[in-house]
Amino acid sequence: MKTWLSIPENSDFSIHNLPFGIVVRDGGKTPAVAIGDSIIDLAVCSKLGIFDPIDCDPSVFSAPVLNDFIACGKQVWSQVRKILQEQLTTENSILHSFQDKALIERKGAEMAIPVHVGDYTDFYSSKEHATNVGKMFRPDSEPLLPNWKHIPVGYHGRASSIVISGTGLKRPYGQTIKPGESQPDFGPSQRVDIELEMAYVIGKANKLGEPVHIKDAEDHIFGKLIFNDWSARDIQKWEYVPLGPFLGKNFGSTVSPWIVTMEALEPFRTNQVDQSPEVLPYLQGRKDSTFDIKLDVTHITPEGVETHIAHSNFKYLYWSMAQQLTHHTVNGCNLNIGDMMASGTISGQEKSSFGSMLELSWAGKEPIELKDGTSRKFLLDGDSIRINAYCEKDGNRIGFGSCEGTILPNPEY
Ligand code: MN
Repeated sequence: MKTWLSIPENSDFSIHNLPFGIVVRDGGKTPAVAIGDSIIDLAVCSKLGIFDPIDCDPSVFSAPVLNDFIACGKQVWSQVRKILQEQLTTENSILHSFQDKALIERKGAEMAIPVHVGDYTDFYSSKEHATNVGKMFRPDSEPLLPNWKHIPVGYHGRASSIVISGTGLKRPYGQTIKPGESQPDFGPSQRVDIELEMAYVIGKANKLGEPVHIKDAEDHIFGKLIFNDWSARDIQKWEYVPLGPFLGKNFGSTVSPWIVTMEALEPFRTNQVDQSPEVLPYLQGRKDSTFDIKLDVTHITPEGVETHIAHSNFKYLYWSMAQQLTHHTVNGCNLNIGDMMASGTISGQEKSSFGSMLELSWAGKEPIELKDGTSRKFLLDGDSIRINAYCEKDGNRIGFGSCEGTILPNPEY
């Protein structure tokens, strides 16, 4: 597909991608699509009549979040994609003629949270990550708990503290306990960490009491984005028994601004890892239920020195998105459009593919060496983390852009 717009080679936002987001323009929020170094303003496209052939309420193209657009359904998402591809490849298209109005430079553009997130669930779907954490947190027992290979383990997170890439987060305060002590301390977390994750956005709701069958599960997914589930390991370690993650997790999670659709991801579909023992029948879906998405984590010092600290792949996960979604609804739990389902930390087998500093530094015993000669066990004030994700196959490349955040000092409680 050849377009009249010049798109840099290796751009995350090729014509095969066309991810959806929300851009801030003239003080208002507008649905948008990324292409090359530009952003297409969907409100302007709609006013120009570009989407007239689509049977949906045109107000969805000027709403401040994508929820109403997503509610129009899979066919509409696909039609918008097709129309934009035609507009971008036709020399005298409306979009080409009105590019001064409809296109914005992507560099420097302010992006907003793409959906209103009603609920957020975090899974724990990497066998390597769950094993590593099990070894560190419970050294005297089997690292994987008996339920782990039977249930896509997850917990309900907090939607209110999901923030867009570029937002700074204050170092959290909380209770921690020193080894061998019985009385906890209170203060700023000394073990602020990242979790390399991806999340999917629910694209179709199910009614309360009506589970989603595994063969239909992917129809309920709009698309995916990068998700950094910041974690305070010292707070987490003290609080998590018996009910699981709480304040060590909910001080912030950062998402990348662009949602890459399932349709754009389809060419990168691949086989899920073998599951043994066999899972229960309600969790048995198609074998090729995951996607080959490369993930890169970069640490940035307050002075701007960048060190690539990990690379992983979404396909390493033990549980598929379809299995997570089916399990989530099997009891009748209803999911709504815009809900986010995060994968859990995505670690591979090699140390270089571990998706958290907890694992990379093995609970602080093996500091991570940085390019400026310093090292880190966990994040210091002013440190930033950038996560990138992309797929590449037969000259077709699509990417997710980046998901970046900084830990800010928090001197006073
Ligand atoms: Mn997590």
